[in-house]
Amino acid sequence: MSIVYIVSAPSGSGKSTLVNELFKVVKGLDFSISYTTRHSRGSEQNAKEYFFVTKKEFEAMIAADEFLEYAKVFEKDYYGTSKRFLREAEVRGNDLLLDIDVQGAAQIKKKIPDAVSIFILPPGREVLGWRLRNRGLDSEEVILRRLDTARREIENYSKYDYILVNERLEQSTDELKAVVLAERLLRSRKKLTVEESQIVEKARACRLDEARERVRPILESFDS
Ligand code: ADP
Ligand code: 5GP
Repeated sequence: MSIVYIVSAPSGSGKSTLVNELFKVVKGLDFSISYTTRHSRGSEQNAKEYFFVTKKEFEAMIAADEFLEYAKVFEKDYYGTSKRFLREAEVRGNDLLLDIDVQGAAQIKKKIPDAVSIFILPPGREVLGWRLRNRGLDSEEVILRRLDTARREIENYSKYDYILVNERLEQSTDELKAVVLAERLLRSRKKLTVEESQIVEKARACRLDEARERVRPILESFDS
């Protein structure tokens, strides 16, 4: 059985950057390329970051029951995870990573309770604003909407198994890698080596119960 990893984050937190880094250092992991009705941005290519489809095509896929989950994100565009990616990962004997929003994550957890969910937080509202502006992909209007949405998204952090604060990229990548490897190790039920036990410990430090103190000032930064 493939392990399904769900990664969610407010837009601009660095989730795509982190996930790209993860794929460089972890083997046996597939990325689920979502379908979306939004237009491509910057250098995005069809069938790489997303499958870009029309609303009509997306609604035909809903009618054909082709989605494991789908949602309207930012009350505007549809985004959905195709069932095909999970089937294909299973055939290959790989695990699968989904980069989806909080609505999608809740749907997957209901269908696949064993899925591992990871929430990535920016260090605070100000840093999130800088990252969105530096990325240079969105208009100021879109950035302000994303900052507003971020507050509401962050409130959902406690529904996730693991919480990562993406402050220093190298450290966050290391923590994300530890979570992926630790879940594999724990499910294998084998006796762990010293090195493997250290990986499991690193992942445990990122579990929700351990994260509440770290999250409080971040939440507060979105209130001011
Ligand atoms: P998301 O996928 O969450 O929307 P991106 O991966 O596009 O976010 O990152 C948003 C911006 O922040 C990008 O310009 C990226 O290079 C930058 N970034 C990502 N992680 C970090 C980090 N740890 N420190 C500083 N900048 C970062
Ligand atoms: P963006 O437009 O910045 O690429 O993504 C916007 C949001 O949509 C992100 O939070 C991203 O995780 C989410 N998203 C991407 N693909 C899917 C998907 O297939 N399903 C759901 N529910 N959300 C998705």
